[in-house]
Amino acid sequence: MNASCRKIKQQGGSFALISLDLDNFRHINDTLGHKIGDAVLVAIARRLSDSLTPQDMLVRVAGDQFVVMMPSASANEIIQHARQLFSTAAAPLQIEHYVLLLTASIGVVWSPQNGAESRLLLQNAEIAMYRSKYRGRNQVTCFDDNMRTELERQTGLTQALRLALESKRDLRLVFQPQFSLVDRHLTGAEVLLRWRHPQLGDISPAEFVPLAEQAGLSGLLDRFVMEQAAIQQAAWVRAGFSLKLSINLSVLSLRVTGLAKEILALLGKYDIPAQLMEVEVTESVDLEGSSEAMAEILQLRAAGVSIALDDFGTGHSSLSYMQQLPLDIVKIDQSFIRSIQPTECPGNAILRAIIALAKALHLEIIAEGVETEEQHSWLAAEGCDIAQGYLHGKPVDRLEFEQRYLRQSA
Ligand code: C2E
Ligand code: CA
Ligand code: CA
Repeated sequence: MNASCRKIKQQGGSFALISLDLDNFRHINDTLGHKIGDAVLVAIARRLSDSLTPQDMLVRVAGDQFVVMMPSASANEIIQHARQLFSTAAAPLQIEHYVLLLTASIGVVWSPQNGAESRLLLQNAEIAMYRSKYRGRNQVTCFDDNMRTELERQTGLTQALRLALESKRDLRLVFQPQFSLVDRHLTGAEVLLRWRHPQLGDISPAEFVPLAEQAGLSGLLDRFVMEQAAIQQAAWVRAGFSLKLSINLSVLSLRVTGLAKEILALLGKYDIPAQLMEVEVTESVDLEGSSEAMAEILQLRAAGVSIALDDFGTGHSSLSYMQQLPLDIVKIDQSFIRSIQPTECPGNAILRAIIALAKALHLEIIAEGVETEEQHSWLAAEGCDIAQGYLHGKPVDRLEFEQRYLRQSA
């Protein structure tokens, strides 16, 4: 590939590189064995090479990753070409008696615009390809320089986060109060993690939680939060406050067996009634496909820990979830609360239907992101149970939470 790049460059030509990586290929190897995996790669390589013109060149760079080099044409033509490769790879494939449906993630770069040197070009094509994976796989992404800057930031943040979690430094919990929509009394608090990077300052969990998940750090992160929350809860129980604390658990941590046992052991160690603990899980493909995660959730619930479905309405197959998961609570996502209008509108109707559904299943309903009195009244009138949002209180640290909310409610 290097020699070809050089040759084209010497001739003054420009070219495009398309990096193609099969999605979830490891899964095929793990479930059907390496023999089938190898046969898939051979078949895909043949398909790709059959779809090329004589000027194009195909190279398998690693495992299930291929690169196609082609003379530069207009951006549209190259993207068209990439899409064609992509449907070539995605057509149903029969190997022995298995029929496999594969998808691929693709990244595209141009020389010399995206790098004059072949190593840099390949790297950039890979960065664009990983962006396709990050966006949900099964798509084509063209490289731009911001992606590199972003990747460098993410790599730096991930390393720093690993250090923070291992040393338990620069991390702290904040608590956001939840209030009854019936009589406005304090019912509980959601525990949220905060991280102050030594140089970059506060990093939002919306940025670092997904990074932790990608880097395999979510188990470490969730355990840190669990332990700190248990220590805090024990102190509040000793001081005579009885309030439910809700912690967020990543589906990735739940898929590794043993987490439920650890949580229950923590409750035992710190003498906390299970009824004062709640865990929030988000609907996702990973959860639905995982009997391990389901078993952990069942174990927690059997011990008396409440289970809440977080961000309800934003994930996939919400309805099938409500049927399968042993749930106590649904937390309706903020986006639905934001769409409440004073006069009747489709948003209101959808929200009303969600509330009716949750009620029919005897679930407690928490509305997230309540910011105005109008939203509060609407939700109260519709029979929602609990409100959480800036109207009632932002997430605050332990001391402020005690002063503002706990002492008031006592
Ligand atoms: P989430 O679980 O949906 O948490 C609610 C988020 O909405 C929090 O953002 C909270 O500060 C914010 N919020 C609450 N009320 C309002 C409101 O009225 N208006 C608006 N605009 N926002 C409101 P935060 O703390 O930045 O957390 C973002 C996400 O990061 C969380 O979403 C959760 O998915 C994740 N996360 C945070 N802490 C943890 C943690 O300890 N463990 C895990 N696994 N994930 C966490
Ligand atoms: Ca949550
Ligand atoms: Ca939420």
